Amino acid sequence: MKYVFLASALTLTASVTFANDEAPLPQTIFANVDIFNGTENKLYENHYVLVEGNKIKTISPSEITARNDAKIIDGSGKTLTPGFIENHAHLMLMGPSLPAMEAGSTWEDFAIHATRMAEMYLMQGFTTVRDAGGANGGLRRAIDAGDIIGPRYYPSGAFLSTRGGHADFANFSAPVGTESNFGRLNLAQEVDSVAEVKKYGRNNFRMGATQLKYMQSGGVVSAFDPWQLLAGSPEELAAAVAVAESYGSYVMAHSYRKEAILGALEAGVKSIEHGFAFDCEIAEIMNEKGAYITTNLTAFDPGLMDIPSIKNVPSSYRKAKSASETFKGYIPNMKKCPVKRGFQTDCVGSVDDCNIQIAYEKKLNHDFFGPFESMKTLTSIGGEISTLTGDFTNPYPEAKLGVIEEGAYADILLLDGNPLEDFSVVGTGDKWFGADKRPDSPETIKLIMKDGVIYKNTL
Ligand SMILES: [Zn+2]
Repeated sequence: MKYVFLASALTLTASVTFANDEAPLPQTIFANVDIFNGTENKLYENHYVLVEGNKIKTISPSEITARNDAKIIDGSGKTLTPGFIENHAHLMLMGPSLPAMEAGSTWEDFAIHATRMAEMYLMQGFTTVRDAGGANGGLRRAIDAGDIIGPRYYPSGAFLSTRGGHADFANFSAPVGTESNFGRLNLAQEVDSVAEVKKYGRNNFRMGATQLKYMQSGGVVSAFDPWQLLAGSPEELAAAVAVAESYGSYVMAHSYRKEAILGALEAGVKSIEHGFAFDCEIAEIMNEKGAYITTNLTAFDPGLMDIPSIKNVPSSYRKAKSASETFKGYIPNMKKCPVKRGFQTDCVGSVDDCNIQIAYEKKLNHDFFGPFESMKTLTSIGGEISTLTGDFTNPYPEAKLGVIEEGAYADILLLDGNPLEDFSVVGTGDKWFGADKRPDSPETIKLIMKDGVIYKNTL
């Protein structure tokens, strides 16, 4: 009898305790930090930031009172910035070439590579990554469940591409309609009619995509397509946009030629990828329609023609040469007629090689556009792009990304210096091909917090 009584008394006490106060959200205070908020060309010096749970609760020039158990981080001399946002990656695609992946990869190869890429991206300071083709919902589920380490993740499902288009990764002799390795795993799908665009577009959302990726132009190193290709009719493009909009989301289109970009904007595409024929007429339409561009500036690197996959393949070399001559106006036009520009690396390859390319892409942003524009591109513009996914498909709809604001998600970096004066503190690299292996995380990124959780702290 005695035991029964005790047990029930304990149960009662316990339930009262929990009913009165739910477990309080963990608090972290960043003290004495200089804040870059993602949107303004200045730092807010010696400020205090209180993170509660996974959001920024308070920002203040004076000390903030918090609970006794709050974690205090002294950020003296450090710059607090939003976590970086990558708008165009391919975490699944390990290379070395598309035919090699098609012929010799299982789902395990893709999954293992993507797991390592996800962790590498977070450790380079990217708390959000949009995947531009080749990834479904599984990686995001594993990251968000905390099973593996990685950034917030916006996958596009399978690339949608016409037969012979930029994401036709089938073997050269594969007859029309043959299943490919990429098709079986829903990494790339061949779509050649309005009906197929609808079917595979819907399948992508079913598989966990947060937006669609349509390959509207050709490429330089791909096998079957001139870069000038105009793939997909206006009706097919419009069908992709309609499917995406039925999920509250949007289409990102791989578009090179002016005709391609104008066609995409006309169809309602919201994110122009590469957009190499960019000019002031396009800028005007983009701004009118609220569209974005993402730029892989390595395409304009002086050393581009020395890359082995271009230098050693005559057809690719010819294509690269004609493309770079045609796209001479890209950077000058973008300076003359600015549009909202997101960060893009577009790396397909090993984790070490992509780490190098990311660091170099950061540097090129600074070289071409200066520190403030580059910081905006890395943060608040990416945050705006993430909202295009729309509330009911967006996996992270509760708060803003890419800004330091009260109420925003607590995705935060502490940098060892002021990136508006010394951009190298974001983790830039001076060399692309032939560069040495880079550290797992840049020394100058002292702290990485995503969703209120600290993944790196070397303070
Ligand atoms: Zn890409």
